[in-house]
Amino acid sequence: MHPDCERVLISEKEIQAKVAELGRCISNDYAGKELLMIGVLKGAAIFLADLVREIAVPTQYDFMALSSYGSAAKSSGRVRILKDLACEARGRHIIIVEDIVDTGLTMNFLAENLSSRDPASVKICTLLDKPSRRIKPVKIDYKGFVIPDKFVVGYGLDYGDRYRNIPCIMVLSPKIYTNKGE
Ligand code: 5GP
Repeated sequence: MHPDCERVLISEKEIQAKVAELGRCISNDYAGKELLMIGVLKGAAIFLADLVREIAVPTQYDFMALSSYGSAAKSSGRVRILKDLACEARGRHIIIVEDIVDTGLTMNFLAENLSSRDPASVKICTLLDKPSRRIKPVKIDYKGFVIPDKFVVGYGLDYGDRYRNIPCIMVLSPKIYTNKGE
């Protein structure tokens, strides 16, 4: 247990089992096809790395970086591309891989942006879904866990770029992000 965290929300074992289940599901759905999985940096990097190894169909992956929370536990409401794809999206079967869908602003923007590049298909996979704070609707095709309105860290998720290497999902103690004027 990390001293900055309140409690473990999802254990390493639960994550592993869920990632394997998502991998099986995706492999079945894309049988006979080739996949392009697009991870959203930096949060989804660990999830993507584990997920692609559970997928049995030919799979390539790439990353995009979008503006997000920065070091604050609040959404800025604006989305910008900081790093675009290195590969072509046209004609590809794309799955966007995200760590968490919260307000939906990021995923809504990204799904629309990638859909406009003439891909064969675009689907969304997220490890965590926090539906209580949704502002923009998002159709999530592959979902790991639905979580309550708590700020979580670990397994790639950060606060101020810290805690990403914690192997499970933990609830960050509010004392860490309050009293900082954020
Ligand atoms: P959205 O655009 O859906 O509000 O937010 C998506 C991004 O916000 C995520 O990729 C993640 O970077 C950040 N985010 C939202 N909720 C949390 C949370 O509980 N913990 C962490 N570490 N990041 C979050």
